[in-house]
Amino acid sequence: MRDSCAPRRWAIVGIMGRIRILPDQVANKIAAGEVVERPASVVKELLENSLDAGATDLRVEVESGGRRLIRVLDDGCGMLRDDALLAFERHATSKLRDVKDLLSIATLGFRGEALPSIASVSRLLLETRSAEETTGTRIEIAGGKMLRCEEAALGGGTAVTVRDLFYNVPARRKFLRTEQTELAHIASLATHYSLAHPERTFRLTSGNTELLHVTPVATLKERVYQVFGSQVLEELVDIGVREKEIFLPPPGVAPSEAIAEYRREPGPDDDPPLRTFRLTGFFSRPQVQKGNRNSIFIFVNRRLIRDRTLLHALSSAYHNLMPASAYPFALLFLECDPGEVDVNVHPSKTEVRFRHGSFVHDFVRDTIRDRLMESRPAPAFSAAVQPSAAAQPGARLPYSEFSQMMENEAPAAVSFAEPEPLPEPGPEPALPEFALRPPAGPAQRLDFSAPPLEVTPGPPPSGKLQRTLDAHGEFPPEALPPPEMSLSVLSDLRPLGQIHESFIIAAGRDGLWIVDQHVAHERILFEQVMKQRAAGRVEMQRLLMPLILQLTAEQQIDYARIADELHAAGFETEPFGHRTIAVKAAPAAVGASDLEKIIFEVLEIAEGELRGASTDDLRRAICAGIACRAAIKINTRLDAAKMEWLLRALAATDCPMSCPHGRPIAMHYSTREILKAFHRI
Ligand code: ADP
Ligand code: MG
Repeated sequence: MRDSCAPRRWAIVGIMGRIRILPDQVANKIAAGEVVERPASVVKELLENSLDAGATDLRVEVESGGRRLIRVLDDGCGMLRDDALLAFERHATSKLRDVKDLLSIATLGFRGEALPSIASVSRLLLETRSAEETTGTRIEIAGGKMLRCEEAALGGGTAVTVRDLFYNVPARRKFLRTEQTELAHIASLATHYSLAHPERTFRLTSGNTELLHVTPVATLKERVYQVFGSQVLEELVDIGVREKEIFLPPPGVAPSEAIAEYRREPGPDDDPPLRTFRLTGFFSRPQVQKGNRNSIFIFVNRRLIRDRTLLHALSSAYHNLMPASAYPFALLFLECDPGEVDVNVHPSKTEVRFRHGSFVHDFVRDTIRDRLMESRPAPAFSAAVQPSAAAQPGARLPYSEFSQMMENEAPAAVSFAEPEPLPEPGPEPALPEFALRPPAGPAQRLDFSAPPLEVTPGPPPSGKLQRTLDAHGEFPPEALPPPEMSLSVLSDLRPLGQIHESFIIAAGRDGLWIVDQHVAHERILFEQVMKQRAAGRVEMQRLLMPLILQLTAEQQIDYARIADELHAAGFETEPFGHRTIAVKAAPAAVGASDLEKIIFEVLEIAEGELRGASTDDLRRAICAGIACRAAIKINTRLDAAKMEWLLRALAATDCPMSCPHGRPIAMHYSTREILKAFHRI
């Protein structure tokens, strides 16, 4: 046993040492920067270290929102004595060796900077023991200065205790938010790491309060249940496991020769020619609409990240199902070969860059869109989902470090058609959209956003009241039909009438439905027009007199850009003198009186949000415009046959959940909710 504890370079070549100091040429290639911004960043780095160490039991203890104390304990591999000392040197890591390793990082850490950074701004105690040594090591450092290093009798694993964060950096301490806010960041972080690792135990305590305690389970679904409770789980759509492969021609092979090359027997050193991407997770129905991205959690290879490409893919999946300004709740886990994703982009390792960005984008968008279509989730009246009482208390705390960063920095998701390469790290201006930032102050709940209509069942009846109610006839729970979560049941509904000559009321096997007749018809027409458009068979009507429209200079430019799309959608138009166009024919569904409005609306779209948008976006916008103008209006009386037709036609659409502008079409009030409201169950 060596008696000196000073870190020695020679120790790194010792037989057992795992940690090495990165050579300069590797260190220089690492996206370096400050990692310790607030208590949650300490927790993040320490949790990541424990996960990398293979821990199956991770415990986080904090006091005063992490300012006074953060302790992370794990049962991972621990550190050898020499390694424990080296770990506090800059760029000392066991996870990288050379530049090549940077191309396929499979661990959460790789920069060798976290421990020295944390130790330089706090009083840190490291206690660790590797199974390979009979005794453990205790190291104490304050403000970056080693105070003590001694042999100690310790169990396996590692405990890092960080006290008085920023005690020696008053400027930094001033920027800390309230204890409650800092604690909420920590809780959100621990909660979301626990979601990424259902097979491990996570525990978070703040003082004597336990905020999270989840034991190992086999599936993500069970972990979501543990963390958020059953009600939230019911409100989410499960992606299941979806995979897609990308074919990789070996480097240096021209695409034309790639197939022949692919058929060749692979050599022992060949990379596998196929790379598989796998998506799992959960997302909300289109009716759950949030004002910001705070409820979107994206993991790539189990690393919690924020990424434009994936955020855009998610928004695109909800295109024509949700307004562009709204965001869903999502927990997405993308797994791929580490060589497919560069995590060495940003100091805090929260940004990534994909090698095949547009492939990944389309895979994620299509997978979520397909699952949305398949599951046809129906909105319930009580869709204001709150983590139920069974949920972990930590899950109800409001923020996450990542969502906060998104609030501050992420760009609007609507403005580009193809995923763009990520920008160089650097400050980005806050966007007006993010004025929706929750106010500092009392903790906000992690709500799943309020639905357009809400019926809140009253408090459960007391025992005494219950007995009186029973006298009115008990409703045996087993007589309840299984809940109808899918809109596929629409075709079986029996229309009962209209309210305000605008909403169809219908009875189903399980409860009551209200259908907005205008948006329902809009959805039907939208899909019809899109299909006709795709088949090049749009029904047109020739106008008796061409309609002459005067354009502004700007509209003239936009017109030139979208003229072909307009034509394909059934509008025959041509330039007619200076800043004037003539409309000679229009889609059959559109009345002459609406023509002018539609064309100007489409021009407005081209001019505004969709400038620079893909043709796909533009096409959808034109079709949505036609559908909206041609659809049955509200305040229109419908006879029983028309209502029945409408429900059946709606049931036959691919996506009966929302109108092309994202508004909900049908609301469902289940038998269970009705019984609850009448205190019968
Ligand atoms: P990085 O994680 O980027 O390698 P860190 O400064 O976070 O850098 O940690 C330095 C090294 O210390 C790690 O590479 C790892 O070998 C070791 N280490 C840190 N935390 C633990 C832990 N909880 N269990 C085992 N080893 C650890
Ligand atoms: Mg680390």
